[in-house]
Amino acid sequence: MHEISLIQSLLTIIDDHAREHGFKKVNQVSLSCGRLSTVEPLALDFAFKILTETGICAGAELKLDILPLKIHCFSCDREFESKNGDPTTCPNCNQDQVTVTGGWDELQLIEMDVD
Ligand SMILES: [Zn+2]
Repeated sequence: MHEISLIQSLLTIIDDHAREHGFKKVNQVSLSCGRLSTVEPLALDFAFKILTETGICAGAELKLDILPLKIHCFSCDREFESKNGDPTTCPNCNQDQVTVTGGWDELQLIEMDVD
């Protein structure tokens, strides 16, 4: 479960921020990742819970925003975003000359609510 190491590096970043900005408690952490990234949301939640039982993030809420897929259509030469599934046809022209061009974004820290 690589989510453990993802959360560990996230917590290191948060600790650094805390030292730098002097906050004492984190209430909420917002993350994002691409739909095609290898992050498993449930495993990520679980890893966050067990790794934040103590420390600055104890009791904090984890929010994960899953970014949509980006698709390019060769028939009409347009870009689209798709929130569900793997699209095989273009939502604009209905042709199947589409390719996925984005959605592999790694886990990113978007914002934190701190005291
Ligand atoms: Zn199209």
